[in-house]
Formats: sequence, C-alpha cells, structure tokens
Amino acid sequence: MKSSIDGVWKSIVNSGSVSQNLVVNVKERMIVKVGLGNKTLFWLDNWVGNRPLRDIFPSLFTLESDKRCTVQQRYRTSQGSTEWFWGSSTPLTREEHLTDWAACKTLLCTAGLGQESDYWLWKSGPTCEEFTVCNLRAELDHINVIPEAKLLTWSHWIPKKVNCFLWRVVQDRIPTREALLTRRVSLPSSTCALCNDTIQSVDHLLVTCDFAQHVWCLIFQWLNITIPRYTLSVVQLLELIKAHKTNKATKRAIETVMAAACWNIWRTRNNLIFNHKAPQIAKIISDIKANSFSWVKSRAGYSNMDWAKWKGFKLTKFKKHFGTLRSIETENGSTGHAKQQNQNNRF
Ligand SMILES: [Zn+2]
Repeated sequence: MKSSIDGVWKSIVNSGSVSQNLVVNVKERMIVKVGLGNKTLFWLDNWVGNRPLRDIFPSLFTLESDKRCTVQQRYRTSQGSTEWFWGSSTPLTREEHLTDWAACKTLLCTAGLGQESDYWLWKSGPTCEEFTVCNLRAELDHINVIPEAKLLTWSHWIPKKVNCFLWRVVQDRIPTREALLTRRVSLPSSTCALCNDTIQSVDHLLVTCDFAQHVWCLIFQWLNITIPRYTLSVVQLLELIKAHKTNKATKRAIETVMAAACWNIWRTRNNLIFNHKAPQIAKIISDIKANSFSWVKSRAGYSNMDWAKWKGFKLTKFKKHFGTLRSIETENGSTGHAKQQNQNNRF
C-alpha cells in the first residue's frame, strides 16, 4: 500500500504492522476500491485477481524495475479506452514473459477503474463496508484475545531461553520452514526435514510429525499419562497438562518435561538441517530426561534428587519420591527460597 496514504487508514495500517498479537489481520481485511489507481501499488497490493500480481506473475515482477509503481503509472487512456503497458526499463524479450504479460493484461482488463481517487473498504465477513471504529470494536469484543498466552506461565523450573522459546512456539514465531516462506525467505524445500512428508509448521514439527509423535508417545509413557489421539497442536498439549489431575509439584515437573521435549525436538531439527546429524529417538528421549532432571534438581530446589530414580519412576509418583518443595528446603535449612521459587509469573 502506498506509503503516502494518509488519514485514518494510515493509522489502521500502522497499528496492524506493529501489533504483536494480530487477532485481526489488518492487511487481509483492507480491500482497495480502485479508482484512478493513484494510491494502489500495481504489483504489491491485492487489487485484481484475489492476490497481488507479484504472486500471480512472479517472473514478470522479477523484471519490473520500479517494484512500487502505482496502478496509475501502468495504464493510459485514449478516447475512453484503457491501455495497459509494460512500464519497466527491462524489456520483455523471452517468449514465456510475453505470454505471461498477455495473460496479465487479460486479467487487468477485468479490473474496473474509476474517475475518483482510490479508497479502502473494510472486509467484515462476506461483505465489504465503510470502516467504522464502532463495528470493529463490536467485533473485537467477541474475540477471546490470544487464549494460548493464558495457558503458558513463566516457570522458574525452566531456563529463561526455553521459557522464551515456548512463548514463541505458542505465538507461532519460531523460524519453521512455513514461517520463513511466509516471510518470503527463499528455501530449497518447504517440507519437514524430519519426515519429508508435509509442510513444516510449528504444530507439525512439535506435535503431528511422525518423529514428534514417537517422542511424545515414549515421553507420555514415562510420565504415565495417556495422550489423546486427537492431540494436534502445542496448545492442545498445554491444555492436556493443565487439565491433568495431580498435585502442583508433579504438574510443574510434567510441564518441565514438556518444555524439555519441545526444546529437544527443535534442537534435533536444527542439528539435522545445519549439522547433518541424523535424528535418533533413543538420544532425544535420553536428552529430554537428562535436561528435565537437571532443571528440576538445580532450579526447583530438589537437590536430593537421584538420576536413577528420576529416569525410572513414573512421574505420577513425583511427590511420593521427592516430597514437596517446602519439605526439601526445610531439610536443607533454606528459608525465603521457597517464596521466590513459588512465584508463578505470567508472561
Ligand atoms: Zn515431519
């Protein structure tokens, strides 16, 4: 959209660009009503053919010398008819480019131009309407804002970098192949490196991928929790743990194991892509148990924990084996520490 666009639309677009929690996707909702084409970007705005011309004719876009040209800069009118012309300083010479440009011009003829300046409409359901703050406010009131964030709590049992990683996971902000492609990063493949089967989204990589399913199956066996077959996302996993009926210490231990599992699946994926290390189920299971053991032992104050016991026991017996945090700290003579450890700050 042209940077010179002014008034209320400029504010709306800017708020959409900077918002970290896009409950309403501003760019998808704004529909341009082209008049003279003076405020609409020819290649970059979605004004004809349901998506930007850049996406429909990528080879032509590559040859365009002025990628931010307006619609108005690419047509001329003569005796009431509109003629679209190739305005780039790079001429069209190859056969396939000429064919593409002919197809592009056919599409351009379907766009209705007008005699007035371009303006924008707000897409609300199946219809487009004049934007009003009142209508948008009514719509926002019915949206439960980022429910995932409520499921995730800052845990002092988990290292800061892993807490941050989980936060990015539930917000879909880790650089999976799907996320990189959305940001137009050129990649040799969009499929999951671990299974080579489907596009690599966050939920695929960490939950539904065959490799991840194998990991979770073994981890939940160890935790002695039944995982429902319809678990398809990280948010569902978090909900599952939140709903699991057990004591508070065991639940935090299970959350810690889950964080270690997500973290290690991500590391396994990175090691495969960047270091060409083949993933091994036995290794990742062992790493998840080792990481969660060291985090619980050193960060949660369970200094008496024993590796052999941690590795072998079912986590439903966590309290029975290791007691409550308070009792262990009382044994160690530590005071004040429990208060700090029990802080459960939300993001
Ligand atoms: Zn996969």
